[in-house]
Amino acid sequence: MTALVIVNARIFSRGVVFPASAIAVRGERIAVVGTATDARDAAGHGALELDARGGLVTPGFVDAHVHLGVGAMDALRCDLAGAATREEIDSRVRSFAAGSEAPWIVGGGWDPTLFPATGPTAAHLDDLVPDRPALLLDADHHGAWANSKALRAAGIDAGTSDPPDGRIERDGDDSPSGTLREGAMQMVARLLPAPDLDQVAGGILRLSRELLRAGITGWQEAALGAYGGFPDFTAAYLRLLEHGRLRGRPTGAIWVPRDLDEGGIDAFVAEAAARAVANARAGLPSSTAKLMLDGIVESRTAHLLEPYAGGDARGLSYFSPALVQRLIPALNTAGLSVHVHAIGDAAVRDALDAFARVPSDLRERVRNHIAHIQLVHPDDVPRFRALSVTANAQPYWACATALTRQATLPLIGDERLDRLYVFGSLDRAGARLAMGSDWPVSTFDPWQGTHVAVTRQPPGAPDAAALGASEGIDLATAIDAYTRGSARLLGLPGGVIEPGAMADLAIADRDPFAAPTAAIHETRNAATIVAGEVADV
Ligand SMILES: [Zn+2]
Repeated sequence: MTALVIVNARIFSRGVVFPASAIAVRGERIAVVGTATDARDAAGHGALELDARGGLVTPGFVDAHVHLGVGAMDALRCDLAGAATREEIDSRVRSFAAGSEAPWIVGGGWDPTLFPATGPTAAHLDDLVPDRPALLLDADHHGAWANSKALRAAGIDAGTSDPPDGRIERDGDDSPSGTLREGAMQMVARLLPAPDLDQVAGGILRLSRELLRAGITGWQEAALGAYGGFPDFTAAYLRLLEHGRLRGRPTGAIWVPRDLDEGGIDAFVAEAAARAVANARAGLPSSTAKLMLDGIVESRTAHLLEPYAGGDARGLSYFSPALVQRLIPALNTAGLSVHVHAIGDAAVRDALDAFARVPSDLRERVRNHIAHIQLVHPDDVPRFRALSVTANAQPYWACATALTRQATLPLIGDERLDRLYVFGSLDRAGARLAMGSDWPVSTFDPWQGTHVAVTRQPPGAPDAAALGASEGIDLATAIDAYTRGSARLLGLPGGVIEPGAMADLAIADRDPFAAPTAAIHETRNAATIVAGEVADV
């Protein structure tokens, strides 16, 4: 049996830093938490010894909402992430197209704030890619930029009506201008050639190592199903697992297709339950369904209780409340938890109304959660606890970045600011909190997300106005949510540091409790341990 000792540590578990300074691990489990002498005695002769140098040892972080498959494909495609100007986007697209023989130019990651609210135009992309169809998703993956050849291939013209779950941006004469929102992306995306499975699997493997390097030992792939120009990543995961190559603990959420209607619920639930069993056998627990109820605020596709500022539109709702109220209890009855995407306060309410239809004993046995929860009406805050629904927060979003100030806050208006990312209110109301990054939408480094959860300011901007300071949570609550909270939500072992617990651990290079909160983001992960073994990344 392998053994491991960690000494000179500050140790965090269940919301507190406790007086012990050492941990002994035997095999895959924690044997002792105590003094260095206790730990060395328990580990025995020949144990590997790690000196934490006063750094904080936490349970491994668990990212409860991440898209490794999307990130893997972004890296294979024309990658526009981080391009700071339109000129840089133009030059990246041109040089990618010049070096590619592919029949389509596909990519994404462009920053929507670099373009007008109606998005970039097909004419602009025709200039960059004149010879082939091209489709480039935005950084949020909720909008896509198409050239004229792509629009033509999809048969989208002035006479095409918007799909029920999306919007075609248009010129004055109704002809498509080049940007497609939400479900409208799918009209072009369904035409894309299938990617190479080995390349996608290789990308997921590389990214799983990056998660481990950041201290993340488990995660949920937030959509296993074809959508938005991406394939179902299940096959890529299963290929890696079959060859024993994946480290860390992946889980997945099975995508609920947009075209599901009430008559199709029973067949979908049966199929998802069968997939969950097969995936779990192969090492990919996925007894969760992903239900995307709305879009995002910035493109006015999030579903709001009251209209967007300056208009009378309230956004989009992808499924009727009647369908959601039948679907969620059916999924739970089949043993499947539900992972809802809800950004707007109306989408959050629709989800809670459906969870309320599930018998309370059943609600306790499954692990339902609502991710994103960007806007929550105050009346709905106590319902999370009452209905045993975990708040799956993306904490990195809860600050006023340039995007938030330019594109988000003006659409919400001052009177709704107190509904934004109400993690503090949810915590005070006794809701269970979990955390995730939604990477590649935002960084998966848990210390960056933790920094924002506490300070409500962008990392490295101590003078920036806090976004709803009273909705910040303390450092211990944030780390506990990102470790124990997420592990519990995904049904993963670990999450605590105590004898008998799974030894999934993250060792930070310092103790952020010993420094001002403005410095939390400077914390780096120094080492990661999965099932008692130091991850070699
Ligand atoms: Zn997501």
